[in-house]
Formats: sequence, C-alpha cells, structure tokens
Amino acid sequence: MPPPKLTDRIKSIQNVRLAQSSSTWDIQIGYPDSSKDGSITTITPPSSEDISNPPLALPSLTHPHIHLDKAFIHSSPEYAHLLPSSGSFQEALSFTTNAKQQFTREDLLRRGEWLLAESVSAGVTAMRAFVEVDSAVKFTCLEAGLALKEQWKDSCEIQIACFAQDPIFSGEFGEQNRSLVEEALCNYPGIDVVGTTPYVESSVEAAKRNIEWAIERALQLGKHVDFHLDYNLDPERGALVWHVVKILRESRWTTNSTRKRVMLGHCTRLTLFKDEEWERLAREIRDYDLPVSFVGLPTSDLYMASSPSASSDQCPHHRPRGTLQVPEMIRRYGLDAVLGVNNVGNAFTPWASPDPLFLACLGVGIYQSGTQVDAELLYECVSTRARKAIGLPSASGLTLRPGDVPDLILFYDRDETGCEVSRPRYSVADVIWDPPARLNRDVLRGGRLKPAALPGWSLDTRYQFA
Ligand SMILES: [Zn+2]
Repeated sequence: MPPPKLTDRIKSIQNVRLAQSSSTWDIQIGYPDSSKDGSITTITPPSSEDISNPPLALPSLTHPHIHLDKAFIHSSPEYAHLLPSSGSFQEALSFTTNAKQQFTREDLLRRGEWLLAESVSAGVTAMRAFVEVDSAVKFTCLEAGLALKEQWKDSCEIQIACFAQDPIFSGEFGEQNRSLVEEALCNYPGIDVVGTTPYVESSVEAAKRNIEWAIERALQLGKHVDFHLDYNLDPERGALVWHVVKILRESRWTTNSTRKRVMLGHCTRLTLFKDEEWERLAREIRDYDLPVSFVGLPTSDLYMASSPSASSDQCPHHRPRGTLQVPEMIRRYGLDAVLGVNNVGNAFTPWASPDPLFLACLGVGIYQSGTQVDAELLYECVSTRARKAIGLPSASGLTLRPGDVPDLILFYDRDETGCEVSRPRYSVADVIWDPPARLNRDVLRGGRLKPAALPGWSLDTRYQFA
C-alpha cells in the first residue's frame, strides 16, 4: 500500500481553539520557500463566527523511541510459534532472536507500514525508529527502514537509528556484529543515529567499551547517539549512566560543540537513586553542558522491569516495578525527559498501542499526575519535548505561536459511538485523561492534511487552501 496522499498546502485554518485559551482563533500558515514545510505566520481573532464546535489545535505527536523492525511480530501468523509462553525477559530475548532469523524485506515492510499508518493516524509526524544490524539480520532491517523513511517522508519525519541490540564487545558474534554496524555506518548515509545496548554485554568492562565506541563513532560521523541503558532494578549493580557522562565530558560533546544529541532509554536502575545521586547527575549534565535526554518507556518497563527480590517466598505478591519518574525528573531536577512507546506487539511488550496519547494517559496513573498542569506536561512529553529531545525544531509549548512548524492535530467532537452523542474535549487534560479515537484527530504535517479515517469524510470548510 502506498503511504497516504496529503492534501495541498493549507493557508489558513479558521475558528479553532488553542491550549490555555477560551476564545477561538484563525491560524495562518506561510510557505516562503516552495521546498520547505512552511510555518505558522499569524494567529488572529476569527474572521467569521462558526456555530459548530471548534476543534482544539495542538502540536502533533512524536515517537522519540520506537522499534520499527520488531513491531507487530505477534500480529503475523508466520511467528505464531513464537508467542510468549512464560513472558520472561530471557524468553523475549531468545524468541526475538529466533523471529529475526525469519525476517524478510517484505514482512518488515508490511509490519513497518502497520506501525507507521497507526502512528501517523494517531497524530505522529516525527519519530526515531530503531532498526537492528547484526549477524542474524545483516542489513535487511536497515534497508527496509530506509525504504519506509523515504516512502513516508511526506507524512512523518523518520530518523533511522542503526541499532545494535546484541553485544558488540562480547559473546560469540560480538566482533562480527560490530564490524557489520561499522559497515552500515559507512555505507548508508540515511542513518541518523548510532544506537547500542550496553546492558546486553557479558561484563561491565565490555559494556563500558560499548559506550565508548558508540560515543566516539557518533561524534566522528556527526550523528546522534542513543543507548538502551541500566535496564535493571538491582541495587548491587552500579549504574552505567556515570560512565556515559564521563565519556561525553572527556569527548567534549556539549550543546555548543554539536547540535547532535544523546538519548538514554529505560534507565530503570536510576529509580533506586537517592536524592544526592539525582542532584549529582543533574548537576554534571548541567555544568558540563551535555545535550542529554532521558526517555521513559513505561509500557515495556511495567511488563518487564521487575526487581530481583520480587516474588520471594515470604511475600509472593510483592512485585514492584520500576520506570523513570519522568515528571519528577523534569520538575525537581531540571533534567530533560520524555516518554516513548518502545515496542508494540512483540515478546518485549505484547500489550498497548502505538498511540502516544495512550502512553501519556498511562502516565497520569503511573506518576500520580492528575492535575491540568500535569496533563499538559505529559502531552509535551509525547509532543514538543519529544521532538526537541531527538534534535528536531519544535513549537515552544502547547499554545501555538507564529514561527511554529505547522505539524498539528485538530481534536474534533465527531460521534464515535453511533448513538449520535459526542462528548466534547475542551482542554489538554480532557485529551490526556481519555484520548479521543483517531477519527477525531485531523493531522497536519508541514501544513498539509492527512485524510481522516472516517467513512464519508470530506474536508471541513474551516481549512482554506493556498
Ligand atoms: Zn528500545
């Protein structure tokens, strides 16, 4: 299936509501350069009074961390023999290794399209997509990812992370995996990010070499670096985040020296940090001007990140989970932290949806973040903050302003029930607390509209074309 065909460029959208404003507004979009996406030029009081419910216009959504090649393995009959039987982390690793031996380009493109279509229709217009390179899959996942990046570029800006899920400094295939990643980085200029998994190495020594190698390569090649890091809840194991900070400092990777960024994912071990350790981490990142962001991956962490002391004989139902406390990291320590979907439909995360608003909604419960202001922060974590964290220009906040990129979602009040009843959502909190269905989200990318998944959908008259 070809990607969706977007409409022509929109020059104005009439009568919409904005975050933190009770009145309605008209948004004008300009395209000074015919090859670029344009930007919001002015926001003015409405030129005409529209009696119908005006939609709420917010910045579009972002996947700061998603696995494109491993998505929806469980939805493909050819992998039916690899459905979870115990649900353990070891099983997920070994079943996924087996599944990877069966990956074909055709199957990768099909499952990738499922992920892209469901994400774009939810309102995602930018993502960092991980594709694996190793001795099992060679360049098959990477090539499929690069093809999808090109095919879907009108609907979504896809950053490709060339990803070593497997060891590159230990184990039987370590050396071979590393030289394949090296080869990929040399030969495929479409790669935007160097991604590795230090926690899968067989020793701390190898994990540190993994970190050093990835930072050095990313710096040399002018790419972002992204680690799957400290994915445990074991107080006996030291956190490798300190080594990342040390190597960044020694490499002089600062916000001034390069526009490329550093992302640290999972990091569940950090939830065992004391206040002094958080203070120290935040201070080092701030003082050394390191462009580091953290991404919490709660759907995977809730499913997988259990403590080694859990389910003891004394307390068999004591099963604590750990996931980065994203709002607390932002507010208390001034760290940069966002939220990502990570995996969908595979042994690492069999549950949940690619819709980032589902994730933000889950955050209300996980972080006990129930206020209106909390909801706005959670929305930012899957939208503007996530975009910035992966190194893309972004709106400064949820209230749209002149100069912002015209990547938007308009939330409507169309009947989702078949009962001719629709409950309006007036605020960002209404959207986060119970995200509306995709048919209530009109998605603009670069000022062009993606057709809505609605039978008999026709363009609303509030859109004026250039
Ligand atoms: Zn991941």
